[in-house]
Amino acid sequence: MSIVVENITKIYGEQKALHNVSFRIAKGEIVGFLGPNGAGKSTMMKILTTYLKATSGNAVVNEFDTTTEARNVQKSVGYLAEHNPLYLDMHVREYLAFNANVYKTPKSRIEEVIVMTGLLPEAHKKISQLSKGFRQRVGLANALLHDPEVLILDEPTTGLDPNQLTEIRNLITSIGKEKTIFLSTHIMQEVEAICDRVIIINKGEIVADTTLAKLQKDQ
Ligand code: ADP
Ligand code: ADP
Repeated sequence: MSIVVENITKIYGEQKALHNVSFRIAKGEIVGFLGPNGAGKSTMMKILTTYLKATSGNAVVNEFDTTTEARNVQKSVGYLAEHNPLYLDMHVREYLAFNANVYKTPKSRIEEVIVMTGLLPEAHKKISQLSKGFRQRVGLANALLHDPEVLILDEPTTGLDPNQLTEIRNLITSIGKEKTIFLSTHIMQEVEAICDRVIIINKGEIVADTTLAKLQKDQ
């Protein structure tokens, strides 16, 4: 199993963001995490990437416990946050080199992820000069740097224009041939375009967990 979540509850002060959430994602699956704003998607993803601690329950990623083996989890997960923090003044290669250094990834990997994400024509530019779609590619390249088994992508296409949207979805689909992907969205079409399976969350609770094939048959 790539991801095992058991009875996760997260309370911020008085606000219950997740209530008894459980699911499992097998290696190689592309799973959509669908729900409206405020449903608890980012909170779940931050727990899986070890940036937040759950109030109770258990989450294991690539066999590593997110609370006791956080460094191992981080090494095996690539994360694209919803508000992807990019250094706008850096050039694309410089930014990736900076992060490669943090991960202690070999330099040769930088050119690999640039090619993989279609960034080659833009890689000499400053991030501030890139369109939103290309900035998302930089975020994806960054998430792929340490060749993680699992990618966690928080709303990766929000705010993109229709052309960029299609290109980024195609890119994620092609990356998904080799990785496990857990992707959040508030748009059903995104799930239909990219995912094999969907977990639907509302007000911090899982309300459905089904394959796309089954969902489409039932409609
Ligand atoms: P989503 O990603 O589905 O939009 P979030 O996980 O961001 O949902 O938020 C779930 C709920 O938790 C929302 O009600 C949100 O306002 C609340 N929340 C998120 N982060 C915090 C925080 N740091 N402090 C208090 N409440 C928070
Ligand atoms: P993201 O989805 O990347 O977390 P958000 O806009 O949802 O971005 O939240 C930005 C920051 O504010 C995050 O650290 C989040 O945890 C926090 N946050 C979100 N909702 C609330 C809230 N209701 N009260 C306090 N902090 C919040």
